[in-house]
Amino acid sequence: MFETFLTEFSSDIYANFFDPRKRLFVGYLVCALIIALAWLVLLRKQKIQHAWRTCFDKQVWFSASSRADGLIFFINRLLFTFLAPALLAKLTIATFIFQWLQGTLGFRPLIQLADWQIAACFTLWLFILDDFARFYLHYLMHRWPVLWAFHKVHHSARTMTPLTVLRTHPVEGVLFSLRSSLVQGISIALFVFLFANQVDLVTVLGANALVFAFNVTGSNLRHSHIAIHYWRFLEYWLISPAQHQIHHSTAPRHFDKNFGATLAIWDRLFRCLHLSEPNTVLSFGISKTVIPDEHSLKQLYLQPFAEATNIIWQTLRKPRILSALTQRR
Ligand SMILES: [Zn+2]
Ligand SMILES: [Zn+2]
Repeated sequence: MFETFLTEFSSDIYANFFDPRKRLFVGYLVCALIIALAWLVLLRKQKIQHAWRTCFDKQVWFSASSRADGLIFFINRLLFTFLAPALLAKLTIATFIFQWLQGTLGFRPLIQLADWQIAACFTLWLFILDDFARFYLHYLMHRWPVLWAFHKVHHSARTMTPLTVLRTHPVEGVLFSLRSSLVQGISIALFVFLFANQVDLVTVLGANALVFAFNVTGSNLRHSHIAIHYWRFLEYWLISPAQHQIHHSTAPRHFDKNFGATLAIWDRLFRCLHLSEPNTVLSFGISKTVIPDEHSLKQLYLQPFAEATNIIWQTLRKPRILSALTQRR
């Protein structure tokens, strides 16, 4: 029993760095480093040694915040090795939705397309729906005070490295995992229903080709101190690393901006897109005021439950307080 747990735990840790379907795959990290060095040397005119030192700044990588990122990563992997079997599987959702569609419509409007065309449509559909679902759940995590109590853990990072992407409270981890299963379940059911009995993804090294493209072009620099920005016209379509860094900024004018992961169109639709500010030096965190034990396990794991319980209790006692609670800061 304990041996099985240990094997699953270690293979989960291994997969995080060696599975190309994961954001922290070493290949993507190397790509991010090359892009960061090229940016600093070619555009910021830094000498290569200086650029290297900038990328591996000890004050960033060994800060209390980064050390907490590492600890959270291990604790969450332990928790999810326990929780994984209990989470809803995408195929369960897909089967349920497929049967519902068939039961409601009573027929299958099979559309004839070549296999490669179905795969291309499925890959694009999944990428767009997944990106929107990611955006929308993230948006709600900022809008709903109960969810913000948990999402604050991600925003409490004072320094950012690629590992910060996994600096999340387990409650947020469960919500994002359910979101992912739901998106995949809906997509599989819909495509099997419409096109064929088998749907395939266009993949590179086993990863969705579009997700692969996003990751090799420096997705890991979103959580870093290298403020790479795109051309202004492109930042209306794709979220640059500098735009996600703005999402983490302590400046009030940056609060609740740039919720998107890859596409910037959702932020445009919800009127919360903020273009990068190349000449502004940002500080990261929830606010400028430093809480003494803000990276302690108590603050990161237990405090959100206390805050969420308090919000729910207050809401139940005074129903009209709901509207007042929409202001989170
Ligand atoms: Zn956020
Ligand atoms: Zn982030």
